Amino acid sequence: MGLHMSMEDNKTYTDFLKRLVVITHVEPFDHPKYKILIEDICECYRLAKGVTEFYTTPVAERQRNGEIFCDFDNGRGDMELLRIRIVSTTQAIVIGVLYTSFDDPERTPEEMEQLENMLRIILGFVSRKRMVRMIEDFGFHDIDGYNNYRAYARYLVMANMENRLGGKVAFHIDLHNFNMVNQEVGRQNGDLVLKKYYKMLLDAIGDTGIVSRLGGDKFIGICDRSVKRSVYEMFAGVPVPYGMGEKNRIRVSAAAGVFMIPNPFMMKTPGDIMDKIMIAANAAKSQTDSAIVVYDDRMKSEKDHIKKVQTEFRLALEKEEFQVYYQPKVDIETRQIAGAEALCRWLKDGKIVPPMEFIPILEMNTDICDLDFYMLDHVCQHIRRWLDEGRQVVRISVNFSRKHLVDVDLLDHILAVIDKHHVPHEYIEIELTETTTDVLFRDLKRVVSGLQQEGIWTAVDDFGMGYSSLNLIREIPWNVLKVDKSFVPKDDEEENSVSHLMFKHVISLAQDMGLECVIEGVETVSQLDVLRRNNCNIAQGYFFDRPLPLSEFEARLDQGGYPE
Ligand code: C2E
Ligand code: MG
Ligand code: MG
Repeated sequence: MGLHMSMEDNKTYTDFLKRLVVITHVEPFDHPKYKILIEDICECYRLAKGVTEFYTTPVAERQRNGEIFCDFDNGRGDMELLRIRIVSTTQAIVIGVLYTSFDDPERTPEEMEQLENMLRIILGFVSRKRMVRMIEDFGFHDIDGYNNYRAYARYLVMANMENRLGGKVAFHIDLHNFNMVNQEVGRQNGDLVLKKYYKMLLDAIGDTGIVSRLGGDKFIGICDRSVKRSVYEMFAGVPVPYGMGEKNRIRVSAAAGVFMIPNPFMMKTPGDIMDKIMIAANAAKSQTDSAIVVYDDRMKSEKDHIKKVQTEFRLALEKEEFQVYYQPKVDIETRQIAGAEALCRWLKDGKIVPPMEFIPILEMNTDICDLDFYMLDHVCQHIRRWLDEGRQVVRISVNFSRKHLVDVDLLDHILAVIDKHHVPHEYIEIELTETTTDVLFRDLKRVVSGLQQEGIWTAVDDFGMGYSSLNLIREIPWNVLKVDKSFVPKDDEEENSVSHLMFKHVISLAQDMGLECVIEGVETVSQLDVLRRNNCNIAQGYFFDRPLPLSEFEARLDQGGYPE
């Protein structure tokens, strides 16, 4: 007997209601019982089709961009019988539509009322379940719709539980020059490019992993080795379209830190993987060409070492473990001491640590600035004492890292130290290295001119290394040019070789401009000869002396020079 035959009494309706209430409150959304119930109701009320729709916003509804779900369709008709549309307080919209066929017997008003009641219950159910999903969804996406860190962490935890992490490739990427991309194509297109690149990565990875955005142009991901090649190709650089037409494409590449997860692998927390890809990513960012750096345990110890030095530095500064060593600069004609450079040594646990082992680390933040001021302070103390003791005093140069250049009050800070010790300004020289960027160039010029006006000497250090430009000596009023030893021609080089010619002309140019030239790293007699032939008169190097501890340098000072 068909269900509708018993519709005369209200028993079937009550039964439907009961089943609806139970299913919608107790059973999960896709439970087969729900499907059976819907089929029963449709048969009983002679319906051909039932459809529910869910939209998160009215705009989405207008674009019909939502979840449209056909709950029932027996294929017998699509004459609309009843439509209910409910807008929730959060502006989400849920719609239910029931269809019938022309030849089905009509429903009584009472039956219509019952149908409406049941449809309302169903819609309440649909929207509640969808809302829960939506809320869950929000937790795993950022406002622009990208997977977020929580989605990544959830993926790692699940894969770990199922023992699927071993052998996968985890990565962190930082897009190259994305601010330039924004400048070139505009911010809005920049967003499109970002989204497109992300989608391309998702496609390349497929269901072997996940990609999440950490913010800005930084992403993290994980995938199988089987897709590693195409993923690496995306890091190396791919054209990304951002609109119609061939021209609207831009090349996007990334610096990537990668961790090849060993097999087997057991993760304690997602941090185990995050730490490794971040360490590798930092290494990748500091490289210019090779964009992909694979994590290796040595990187971790390197990072620990850096942390250790940074922590120990503070204490060492308080305990005055840093010592000033002095390396004389010698006039090669008279063999008299013409000046000296103050070089830092760390006396740590009875051993001397050379600057190359800690200065690059201190330069990672502004620690180096504190060290330089410590050095300047100690140098001034020494000079003051030498003067008071009636010694023959020479000008001492102190190295200042270019990290100081952002300090707008640098000049005042330097003056405060020198004047505190009542040291005449002409005994102090500040050595600065060349810079590569325009902004720093401007700061450099300001600082050097300021020092100059105060009668403090300035030297450009390591000239000839890296990116020295003639602009640097043309536009900034230096007193001294310190030529790096790598710029000095080798003994076996021909007189007319390019490096000989360059050396000769740069030196004569500098001298014509009134700059004092100091050649660093002079070790041999033949190098000394090269200097003589090129009319450079001041040398600093092992040939005369290594950097000396205070007492030895004082003895040298008293001695005044170097016998032939
Ligand atoms: P620099 O300022 O160019 O100092 C010259 C370096 O060359 C010194 O190395 C010196 O010992 C070395 N040297 C001198 N003569 C010779 C030679 O004949 N042959 C060779 N092969 N090397 C020679 P050091 O003392 O190891 O310092 C290295 C660098 O560390 C310095 O290069 C400077 O950039 C930095 N540094 C040292 N002390 C300080 C400091 O107090 N503050 C800052 N910011 N940097 C410092
Ligand atoms: Mg120097
Ligand atoms: Mg130097």
